[in-house]
Formats: sequence, structure tokens, C-alpha cells
Amino acid sequence: MKKTILTGLRPTGNLHLGHYFGACKNWLNLQDDYNFYLEIADVQALTDNFNNPEKVRENVYEITKDLLALGIDPNKVNIFIQSQIKEIAELTIFYSNLVTVSRLQRNPTVKTEIAQKKELFGNNGESITYGFLGYPVSQAADITCFEGELVPVGEDQLPLLEQCREIVRKFNSIYGNTLIEPEQLLSNSPRVKGLDGNDKMGKSLGNAIYIIDDEETIKNKIMSAVTDPNKIKKDDKANPEICMVYYYHKLVNNEDNINKVCSECKKGERGCVQCKKELIEAMNNFLKPIQERRKQFEDNKVVEEILDKGTKNAQLKAKETISKVKEAMKINY
Ligand code: ATP
Ligand code: MG
Repeated sequence: MKKTILTGLRPTGNLHLGHYFGACKNWLNLQDDYNFYLEIADVQALTDNFNNPEKVRENVYEITKDLLALGIDPNKVNIFIQSQIKEIAELTIFYSNLVTVSRLQRNPTVKTEIAQKKELFGNNGESITYGFLGYPVSQAADITCFEGELVPVGEDQLPLLEQCREIVRKFNSIYGNTLIEPEQLLSNSPRVKGLDGNDKMGKSLGNAIYIIDDEETIKNKIMSAVTDPNKIKKDDKANPEICMVYYYHKLVNNEDNINKVCSECKKGERGCVQCKKELIEAMNNFLKPIQERRKQFEDNKVVEEILDKGTKNAQLKAKETISKVKEAMKINY
């Protein structure tokens, strides 16, 4: 029997190269061999976007279209909307008794995110809500609701999965063996860097190339990408390892071109403008088939049908789980 995988994305914006190379590309390789649930985590997106419901709603469709454009096959993957699975909310409440507040505050992923929010809003973290602090609990509900055996994660997400395992163990030790303890499927995909040289390409960092970016946008973004600051003149020798243009050549160009870019750059035989022009072309060639495929899903009706089907399948599984959980907790009236 196929093992079950649960993963998801928060609908807060379109997908960028970081999402593709850091996560989705890996999912494409998994979709044939696993029983795959892909959650559009709108409830989780609302934890820090509660005052912007239109944005979340719009991005449920945007992100689904992006996923389909990237090649996620709705006949193999159950793409579903988190808010439509009420059992997840029920489980979140039940699990919240099994986690201490201090344990959540010590969760490294949560800690990092709270620190980022403090930096962004400068209010000493007083805007951190109960819901935000508790999002690892709701993630444990997401995973266990579908009896996810494997969860594809990056290093930085490991503490969330560990928190889920702790909840599962606690639940099972109190109420009897009911929930499945998930394992990580640690991806070896790289963390994709931003146009500005930041270690992470991210929506909120404003340094991302989105898969829906048109040619003009790509041109402007790549022209502004950070290169070796010591290269002043066209024929100066430079270090490609600290150049974002070379970095993206490595992601989207072919091996011959990559080697050529590298050796010419080191020898001072290539100017940055020319190098950027070549990257613009390679990037557009990379994005073109994705954007072509996305056109098939422009109609919201098509996407709604796909989400409906995935959500119905997810609901069936969620019902099974909640009945086991309620029986174990003796609240199966
Ligand atoms: P935000 O800036 O709002 O946090 P984001 O652009 O970081 O948004 P998320 O929705 O936080 O996007 O990312 C979801 C998942 O996509 C991450 O958990 C990670 O697996 C993957 N991901 C996002 N950005 C990158 C990146 N730059 N490199 C590798 N993986 C990434
Ligand atoms: Mg993020």
C-alpha cells in the first residue's frame, strides 16, 4: 500500500522560484508513489493575515493555479482547502490541552518567526496572537487528520514536526494508541537565495522571482540582481560564487552554458550586462512552458472543480480520523 504524505502551502501570494526549487519540485517526484494530500492552508494564513481575508481568498486560487502550472497532477494529488475540513479545527482544540505555552514559546521555528515579527513591527512582540503561537498545534492537526506518515520538510521546519510527534505520543499515552507518528522526509533541495543576495528568497523580503512574472518584470528584476561588487569594468576578473546572476544561471540554464558563464567570468572575458541578458533569456525559456500550462487553468471554474474533488476526498479521510479520536477520548456521543 502507498504511504501517505501530507504537505501544504499558505495562500498569501504567488509561488516563486524558492517554492519551486525548495519544495514543489520535490513533490512532483513524489506524486506518483504516495497517497498525497496537499493542503492550501488558508486557516493558517489567516493567523497572521486575519485582517486581510480577501488576500487569502484570492491566493487560494492563485496558488492552486501555480501548483497546477508547475505540474502537480490533480488526479494524483488531493489538493484541498484547509478551512473546509472542520475536523482539523476540532483536533486543534483537542491537542491544545497536550501542549504547554512555554513549549510553544521555545519552539525554534516559532521563536525565529516571532523575532522576525518584532523586527518588522517593532512592538516587542505584543501583537503575537494566541492563534499564531498555537500554529504548530494546528499543523499537528493537519498532519494527523490525514494519518500522514511522511511530511516533506526543510531543516528549518523540523521543530514543527518534532512538536507534532510529541503531541501524538502524549495523545496515544493518555487515550490509547490512536494517532500515527509522522516521519520527516528531509528534502535535500537547496534554500533558494534572493535577488538581493539574501540567503532566502521570500515574498515578504521583496527579493523573489515569481513563476508568473512576465518578460518585462523578469528583465527589470535580473538587471537589478546583485553581482560581485569588486567587478567594476566589463573585463575585470570576478568571483561568480558571490554573484546572484551566476547563481540563477545554475538554477535554470544548461550545464554547458553554466560552465561557460563561470570560466569567462573568472577570466574577465564576460561583462555583467551581457551575462544578465543571457540569464533573462534562460529564465524566460524556463518559465515559458510553466506559464503556458497555467493558461489552461485561468478559468476559476476549472480550479474550483479540482479543489472540490480534492477537498471531498480529504473530508472522507478526516471523518474516519475524527471518529477514532472521539472514541478514544470518550466523546463519541
Ligand atoms: P513569507 O515571506 O510570507 O514567509 P515565503 O516566500 O517564505 O513567504 P512561505 O509560504 O513561507 O513563503 O513558504 C512555504 C514553503 O516554501 C517553505 O516552508 C519552504 O518549504 C518553501 N520555501 C519558501 N521559500 C523558499 C526558499 N527561498 N528556498 C527554499 N524553499 C523555500
Ligand atoms: Mg516563510
